[in-house]
Amino acid sequence: MGTTVGIVGLGLIGGSLGLDLRSQGYRVIGVSRKLQTCQTAVLRKVTDEASIHLSQLATAEVIFICTPIRAIAPTIAALLPHLSPEAIVTDVGSVKTPIVEEITSWCPNFLGGHPMAGNESQGIDAAQRNLFVNAPYVLTPVEDTSTRAIAQLEAIIGAIGARLYSCSPQQHDRAVAWISHLPLLASAGLIASCLGEEEGEVLQLAQQFASSGFRDTSRVGGGNPELGVEIARSNRGEILRSLSRYRQNLDGLIAAIEQEDWQKLANILQHTESGRKKFVDGR
Ligand code: NAP
Repeated sequence: MGTTVGIVGLGLIGGSLGLDLRSQGYRVIGVSRKLQTCQTAVLRKVTDEASIHLSQLATAEVIFICTPIRAIAPTIAALLPHLSPEAIVTDVGSVKTPIVEEITSWCPNFLGGHPMAGNESQGIDAAQRNLFVNAPYVLTPVEDTSTRAIAQLEAIIGAIGARLYSCSPQQHDRAVAWISHLPLLASAGLIASCLGEEEGEVLQLAQQFASSGFRDTSRVGGGNPELGVEIARSNRGEILRSLSRYRQNLDGLIAAIEQEDWQKLANILQHTESGRKKFVDGR
């Protein structure tokens, strides 16, 4: 029989993981907070079975914690007494250092992880197939992490078609501050600035004119506010660092335009035009 995987928190990430793991032959047991979510999970074949009780996961060999960040550590603490000593526990939280630092001290088979996939929707109804295909999936092992846990998770990540990366929790949090958390807040700042237009008629026109450019640049700032606050709370230092560098770059743009230094502006835009390819597309 294939590996039995447990998933706690059957929302966008947990539900999508369940769909893909089942299609790859894994047996999936789900646990979520609401009974209705568990019923939907079984009905939609997201999991083989689902329950609101963590004790349901007694036979699971690998367990993914897919709850909101603040619930990850308490969920693992409540789950541990039900598991076999060999069971491997991982999470999918978007921030790693505080989670890994807290949990590795009392959960020896824990290995932090973060699938870099998702969108602005939430809950079991947002679960979709192939969400992780070709997406980066970062594991953040520490000195004491067992090679068995790493190997098991690598196999699962390969099965869902994700691209595996490994780094320290601190490196992860600094890197995602740049490419995920700063974009979210910069995009929120953009939307807030536009909404601040004082002339009502101009604001209305701007809203009517907004097209693909605004859709792209505002997308991540228009998502779930709770997730944004949770991320800022748990990666505060790195986010403040990247936001203040961003403010310096904004000041550089303002200065170039104020001084009508078009060459300076062109240099900045040439640098960003070629630099963008190193993050997307031309990797
Ligand atoms: P989500 O769609 O809101 O799903 C989370 C689910 O967890 C909820 O639907 C809820 O299900 C359940 N839940 C909440 N508290 C729980 C608890 N104490 N015990 C058990 N289940 C609980 O959120 P998500 O976007 O999947 O995010 C989940 C995790 O993935 C977060 O840690 C986030 O940082 C991480 N992540 C998110 C993204 C993204 O783009 N969204 C990407 C990568 C990683 P009920 O219906 O049962 O209440």
